[in-house]
Amino acid sequence: MARINDHYLKLKAGYLFPEIGRRVREFTSANPEAKVIRLGIGDVTQPLAPAVLNAFRSAIDDLATEDRFAGYGPEQGYDWLSQVIIDKSYKPLGVELKANEVFISDGSKCDCANILDIFALDNIVAIGDPVYPVYNDTNVMVGRTGEADEKGYYKGIVYMPFTAENNFVPELPSEKVDIIYLCYPNNPTGTVATKEQLKVWVDYALANDAIIFFDAAYEAFITTPGIPHSIYEVEGAKQCSIEFRSFSKTAGFTGVRCGLVVVPEELMGTTASGEKYSLNKLWNRRTTTKFNGASYPVQKAAAAVYSDEGWMQVKATIDYYMENARIIREGLTAAGITCYGGVDAPYIWLQTPEGMSSWDFFDKLLNECHVVGTPGSGFGPSGEGYFRLSAFGDRENVETAVQRIKAKWGK
Ligand SMILES: *Cc1c(COP(=O)(O)O)cnc(C)c1O
Repeated sequence: MARINDHYLKLKAGYLFPEIGRRVREFTSANPEAKVIRLGIGDVTQPLAPAVLNAFRSAIDDLATEDRFAGYGPEQGYDWLSQVIIDKSYKPLGVELKANEVFISDGSKCDCANILDIFALDNIVAIGDPVYPVYNDTNVMVGRTGEADEKGYYKGIVYMPFTAENNFVPELPSEKVDIIYLCYPNNPTGTVATKEQLKVWVDYALANDAIIFFDAAYEAFITTPGIPHSIYEVEGAKQCSIEFRSFSKTAGFTGVRCGLVVVPEELMGTTASGEKYSLNKLWNRRTTTKFNGASYPVQKAAAAVYSDEGWMQVKATIDYYMENARIIREGLTAAGITCYGGVDAPYIWLQTPEGMSSWDFFDKLLNECHVVGTPGSGFGPSGEGYFRLSAFGDRENVETAVQRIKAKWGK
């Protein structure tokens, strides 16, 4: 008898995006002439940078030759990629890393899930609310939680509300936690944390022997000077933090797939008998056993992001999205809608007007403006009364969407 992993049955059906799809289809079939603009997605829309494409193509050509053919590479990724990431992306922040502390992967979602492999089940985990659902659901899957209550909170997880009242930086939990997920710039709220705010968490982690999982998938979108791009900009973070990064949003790799995890050598966990053990060693063991590396042409394409030409092109696309974000944020603000985010992240998190629920606002926006966004309540109970608009999209569509919203809500 092959027993299944029953913990999967505790998961609530992936309800948010199918439900959005259902309501949009219902609307478009009733209103076939309506030009619906989708600002709900968390996926990039612009093509890869030319320098990245050239590197990608030339790496594929390598595979067509006997002398430049590449088979299995290092499971942890090629040193030439880790090193260029360190030199171009971490050194300028004043963060020193070694190549063996950077693990290249096929994307950050898998990394955020896989990291749980090297931690014991009885750790107490703290997760934001609203949140990128991967952190929550992967903890349910490994069996760290009980059942969900009627609000959607799982027993055994400590939820940290992210709301306008706390400026989207949660307070320290009142009970002791061992693992803390932080995502800045944040998805879905689009907000950031200052170095001082992150230091509170680093100090907590150091004092409590806790580990911070820091998801920096959107660090390249930061425009405000002084906002940390890496948790390691905070003193002491190397002793308590694992950082996740991705080429997905930075360089349009959502379909190409490449990410990375940083596990510093000095980072220690605790064994059952109370001794300190290197998490870098454990993650290396896990990686070499369960993973055979990101593909060679993908790693070549990723390295090209950091060439002078590549970075200029990638940055131009980021600027394009961030101009969209500005148009959305300023347009909505002018229409009297309270907005957060959209300055250092490609998401605008708005407070629904007239105290509407997230789903009521979704319906109104779809029916009256023909614009699709994402109900905040879909990211967690504390997202109720909020709504996410994405800046990934076409300029003309963004401008039209904002004009429609202004015409509807503007005074
Ligand atoms: C998009 C995103 C990622 C990146 O996922 P990939 O698997 O690398 O595409 C990671 N974290 C958050 C919060 C995201 O929104």
